[in-house]
Amino acid sequence: MAVLTETDLITIRRELHQHPELALHETETHERLLTIIADFNQTHLQVRTLPELPTAILIRVTGSAPQRTIGYRTDIDALPVTEATGLAYASQNPGIMHACGHDVHMAVALGVLSYFAEHQPQDNLIFFFQPAEESENGGKLAYEMNAFEADWRPDEFYGLHDNPDLPAGAIGCRMGTLFAGTTEVNVDFTGKGGHAAYPQDANDMVVAAAAFISQIQTIVSRNVDPIEGGVITLGKLEAGTIRNVIAETAHIEGTIRGLTQTMIEHIDDRIRDVAAGIARSFNAEVTVSLNQGGYLPVENDPALTANFINYMKENESIEFIETAPAMTGEDFGYLLSKIPGTMFWLGVGDDAQLHSATLTPDESAIQAGVDAITGFMTYRMLH
Ligand SMILES: [Zn+2]
Ligand SMILES: [Zn+2]
Repeated sequence: MAVLTETDLITIRRELHQHPELALHETETHERLLTIIADFNQTHLQVRTLPELPTAILIRVTGSAPQRTIGYRTDIDALPVTEATGLAYASQNPGIMHACGHDVHMAVALGVLSYFAEHQPQDNLIFFFQPAEESENGGKLAYEMNAFEADWRPDEFYGLHDNPDLPAGAIGCRMGTLFAGTTEVNVDFTGKGGHAAYPQDANDMVVAAAAFISQIQTIVSRNVDPIEGGVITLGKLEAGTIRNVIAETAHIEGTIRGLTQTMIEHIDDRIRDVAAGIARSFNAEVTVSLNQGGYLPVENDPALTANFINYMKENESIEFIETAPAMTGEDFGYLLSKIPGTMFWLGVGDDAQLHSATLTPDESAIQAGVDAITGFMTYRMLH
């Protein structure tokens, strides 16, 4: 097959949209992608799967006169959301939806890959179809199982996320951080329970938790550079069992967000200090666990990103928009902490937000995204 047309890309996107799968369970998606890729000109392609991460796909396109290897990543997983778009091609998998637009991401990646399968690039290219972005840290899993060793290691890595707030087809980016880093926090206070009538014999963890939660509010207001910013949200609190028994334990769960890894570690340290101080003042035990399931911030490489933005700004057929950082997380931050690169937005002009049950990306963004990326990669190979 030749290069995928806009009609092909929209058909593919709708097919993927109808069959969404959750993180690490993208088996049908994996098969569908392999079938589509098998139709491309195979002359310069090598296709690889990872036995330990069976839904991942890596494709290497051998360059004609390579000076470097350029990586491009798309995520492939969906979310536990019940679709409410009412579209003819809505999800057929109950309770699961491509509500983050990863179906659009895959269609764009296939479009770019089909172009370079037909038009051999000068540099080598690595395409990474990544499972488990929404949870389970698919990027990190792949990296840790040596997916990017030797010939398969990109010198630089690119990836996009769709953005309903930007007009369809527009490219958004910024120097510095595109997505905040996140840390998940669990705090457990343990004291001594007792009868509600005899507080002098007990050690009340409801009061300790209340003091901790209040004091945590001073971290962002008093310890964080206001220009840089940060977020601490404690979204869950469980303590005690019944109204007339003093609580022996309190369990708190929350999330921290910051624009740099340095800031996140600073907030992490302050949370540990405050928890230890509260435990001491209440004569309680405390355990603080941080960062299971957290994401590193997506920190764009300065030189590569300046080059990327420059191309997008100078190309008159591309609408480029400089964006603010997003306080949501993205697991591409892990790969960008290992391999320099740039993450950017592709506008899909929609009123619904990402993760919404009514997300309906404007499909004209797909071809526009393919054109912008193939154009950029071709330009990159000459510079
Ligand atoms: Zn998402
Ligand atoms: Zn996403």
